[in-house]
Amino acid sequence: MKIIIFGSTGSIGQSTLSLIRLLKNTQNFKILALTGNDNIDQLCKDAIEFKVKRVVTANKNNIFQLKHKLSSYNIEVLAGEEAILDTARMGADWIISAIVGFAGVPPTLESVKYCKIVAIANKESLVCAGKLLIDMAITFKSKILPVDSEHNAIFQCINHENPINIKKVTLTASGGPFRNFTLAEMAKVTVAQAIKHPTWAMGKRISIDSASMFNKALELIEAKYFFELNSDQLEVVIHPESIIHSMVTFIDNSTLAQLGPNDMRNAIAHTLNYPERKKVPINDLDLTSLKNLSFEVVDVKKFPSINLARMILNTKGSLGIVFNAAKEIALDRFICNDIKFLDMSILVEKVLLLPEMNEYNSTLLDTIEDIIDLNKRVRQISKQIKI
Ligand code: NAD
Ligand code: MG
Repeated sequence: MKIIIFGSTGSIGQSTLSLIRLLKNTQNFKILALTGNDNIDQLCKDAIEFKVKRVVTANKNNIFQLKHKLSSYNIEVLAGEEAILDTARMGADWIISAIVGFAGVPPTLESVKYCKIVAIANKESLVCAGKLLIDMAITFKSKILPVDSEHNAIFQCINHENPINIKKVTLTASGGPFRNFTLAEMAKVTVAQAIKHPTWAMGKRISIDSASMFNKALELIEAKYFFELNSDQLEVVIHPESIIHSMVTFIDNSTLAQLGPNDMRNAIAHTLNYPERKKVPINDLDLTSLKNLSFEVVDVKKFPSINLARMILNTKGSLGIVFNAAKEIALDRFICNDIKFLDMSILVEKVLLLPEMNEYNSTLLDTIEDIIDLNKRVRQISKQIKI
């Protein structure tokens, strides 16, 4: 099986490589290419270990360092956004889209044209280009599969059921590190506090997004496109133990849930082996070791990002791009101490409510060029919004 990993140096990328190490004696894998950004040491180490054909850094400033480190190996070394896009054109049986943020959107779309299975961790791809992605997968006869644990769980629960039989989908959320904080306490939290996720080990940006529940907000929009659901069919429930990854209730009121340990390798393996199921030598769930499985209603006063996502779910246009771009800049501004934690949702709401964004309630952009343009424009605007 020929594989490409976009974002191999990140949390999902490293989980993928760890899984491939575990499975390589029982399955035949050939990693064609790895892409990363600034973690050149990790990129080189993995490229050498897996004898890849090509390695790409998104940052052109890293090209000399990367070339120097790999000079005695027969590995093609490239840099820049266009080189990442071109890597999708190498074609593969399975690729994982694990770049963080909007930068992951163009390579996901390009992979759908050239690769058989596109496993999507980069939720921004569905949030910003969901309809286009689904349509392209049909045109190019590729299969897109969800890696995000909630969506992978929903996918497994639906398991070829007729979509008209779905009553509702319940996404579980850990609630993040501030679940029990008061609003006043949340107003003062630092970046260091926001990064510490209670149940999952993830990249820095998604960890902060989990603390603000912007991650869950993105996931609601991701689910809308992946499973063609409307706002009324989507709910979020806080489940601090993160053992039930999500649930689907059918029209006969039967609810199916998918459970597993907090290890992303399970969801990755599910997409890697799809449509078969194969043994995965990692720990399964030990139910008797769990003290409790608990559930709570989301307090939207503390987590307004969930209500902002509802604004997007109720529209038919490309407001998801606006939401994501504003959120990415809000996150940048929080990380560099320009705005406070709770200001992130205030900023995103301000951008969504700008009169010039009105048209995206109904206008659906259907080319990658238009999607990239809108993303750039909203990022510029969001940098200038005063809080
Ligand atoms: P991460 O920050 O750990 O890794 C991100 C990867 O993207 C790295 O390889 C980095 O080099 C690369 N990258 C960063 N900026 C880039 C750019 N401008 N151009 C090209 N590459 C760039 O992130 P992560 O936690 O692995 O998350 C990756 C994606 O998967 C995100 O969209 C996230 O929402 C999603 N996801 C992650 C998890 C998780 O458990 N970590 C779970 C579900 C979904
Ligand atoms: Mg998730």
